[in-house]
Amino acid sequence: MKQPKDKYEVVSEMGKRRGYFWQSYEIYGGVGGFITYGPLGSLLKRRLEEKFRRFYLQPLAILEIETSVIMPENVLEASGHVENFKEPTVECTKCKRKFRADHLLQEFGEMTDTETEKMALQSVVDELKSHNIRCPDCGGDFNKAEQFMTMFTTTIGPYSDSVGYGRPEAAQGIFVEFKRIFESARGRLPLGVAQIGHALRNEISPRQGPVRLREFTIIDIEFFFDPEDKKCLIINDVGDETLRFVLAENKLKGITEPVTITIKEALNKGIIKEEWQAYFMAQAKRFLVEMGVPEDQQRFIEKLDYERAHYSMQGFDQEVYLERWGWTEVSGHNYRTDFDLSRHMKASGVDLTAFKESEDGGKRFVPHVIEPSFGLDRLVYVALEYAYTKRNKRTVLSLPRDLTPMQVSVFPLMNKDGLLEKADEVYHLLVNEGFTVDWDSSGSIGRRYARADEVGTPLGITIDYGTLEDGTVTLRDRDSWKQVRSKLAELPSLLHGYFCNRLNFEDLGQIIER
Ligand SMILES: [Zn+2]
Repeated sequence: MKQPKDKYEVVSEMGKRRGYFWQSYEIYGGVGGFITYGPLGSLLKRRLEEKFRRFYLQPLAILEIETSVIMPENVLEASGHVENFKEPTVECTKCKRKFRADHLLQEFGEMTDTETEKMALQSVVDELKSHNIRCPDCGGDFNKAEQFMTMFTTTIGPYSDSVGYGRPEAAQGIFVEFKRIFESARGRLPLGVAQIGHALRNEISPRQGPVRLREFTIIDIEFFFDPEDKKCLIINDVGDETLRFVLAENKLKGITEPVTITIKEALNKGIIKEEWQAYFMAQAKRFLVEMGVPEDQQRFIEKLDYERAHYSMQGFDQEVYLERWGWTEVSGHNYRTDFDLSRHMKASGVDLTAFKESEDGGKRFVPHVIEPSFGLDRLVYVALEYAYTKRNKRTVLSLPRDLTPMQVSVFPLMNKDGLLEKADEVYHLLVNEGFTVDWDSSGSIGRRYARADEVGTPLGITIDYGTLEDGTVTLRDRDSWKQVRSKLAELPSLLHGYFCNRLNFEDLGQIIER
């Protein structure tokens, strides 16, 4: 019997058909770990990025910078990446294919990443043997494991000793440029600096589509503060927000059931050590809710000592439930202390401290850092999976209206009697107002509605004979399939109100009873 399709399968099929995303280099058979965003996908990704700026960066006046993707070896040596950015790999003795050992153990040995994370190289092979895990491709066995460096390596210019790496994250670009950014911000603390850009990780065997990519877009925020003056002045804005935690102490006892705690409580009990970290975690939850992911489909996992990255003093991963892959990390929240600035200060010999006045003349100190970090591609996929719904057997992509690539579709009822010309006028009116507008004049109006629903366009505007008579149009809502009749002249201001969530669909005109 054929397995029913899971959400990933249907979303990917829709993604290919409608131009959201697909595997890159398809005409050459495709290459794992790379995806291409089509016209709608790249728009969705851009909107998500814009929403993130509005929601997460701008309220705190977080500054954004853009640094290069290729980094010289000394930077990543100082940051600890050259030493630490490695994954345990095993090779099939028969077909010679390589796999990430911890992923094999998780997928076929039912081990958690908590269990695999602390394993030594030799015990990885022992565990594979004891679970009788063989090569998923040919059934061969594995003998020895080795550490594989997952940064892409290159040379800078023609000199082979001038090693460069594709950056595995965007954070180091911020740390190495801290001095200038800090000066240009007139030495204020706290100071948030963000970078949204491509990062590269040479994943060993990525088989999870947009969820595990070799080239991806990362959002790294480094929030610098004085460790002796670390109160978050807006913590009350999120004090009553509840988060679902899987706590480290519970994980050690094998309990994965989350506990729901308010931010206030989490800080009082010392579950989250720093107020700024708590603030950013609460905002991360809210952001995902606005993206369409309900509270009970999110959780925060506290990292154990040995699970944390080498720079992290306290870490939580925000996870979202996905149908195929289960709980999947979408953001990481780490307290990096002064680790990075201190390391770069030592390696470069350049002073990266801040200065503060005090009664005895003042002192210099290295700022501490809270880092929220998001994978933008995963967020794009999460938005699609959570938006994908069925209504009367039809696909409706219920993306939040501030994320939809196409905002409006214009439908001339007929291709005659001046309706096309009128529709063209409406199309240009809306384009000039800054909306993204789709045009669809082929097939029955029902077919056109169905196509718009599938790509997630929230509003359809039908131009009919009434439009020619009295200047009104029919607006149709993607989710309720309700219709209203509105005045053409008022359309721009109505739509602006609607897309910034000031107006509901019912506010856009006279409801048409059917
Ligand atoms: Zn094999």
